[in-house]
Amino acid sequence: MEMFSWLVHKYIMHGALWFIHKTHHEHNKGFFEANDLFSIFFGSIAVILIVSGLQDNDFKLWVGVGISTYGLLYFVLHDILIHKRVKLWNMPKSLYLRAISKAHRDHHKSLKKEDSCSFGLFFVSRHYFNLNKKSVPKNSQAQD
Ligand SMILES: [Zn+2]
Ligand SMILES: [Zn+2]
Repeated sequence: MEMFSWLVHKYIMHGALWFIHKTHHEHNKGFFEANDLFSIFFGSIAVILIVSGLQDNDFKLWVGVGISTYGLLYFVLHDILIHKRVKLWNMPKSLYLRAISKAHRDHHKSLKKEDSCSFGLFFVSRHYFNLNKKSVPKNSQAQD
């Protein structure tokens, strides 16, 4: 799922569908973004697979459960912990979570579709782990 997500983010969201995804890179004050359409789209596919998998009693159920699990983890990490769209928890001070938060903040530094880096969320370059060993930021919250 992470590889699929990386491909979609790099080549579709930062490609033909940039006009939707750019709402997530802009400093938008509203709660909802056009970019949320991607979550609705993939969430709908997961629901269809789960319902169809339950009716047919086949593998589609587990594909849907896998997509939903990834989506839930992505939501907790990206929307709650990194962007704080829902203020439930602060980012724990683990080396791994600080590294992915820093990588995602680097992804957001660019407002253009061509100049971004770090398209994955859960797997990031070793570079970000080394950065965190040198300095511990007081506030690991990303600015979106
Ligand atoms: Zn992006
Ligand atoms: Zn983001």
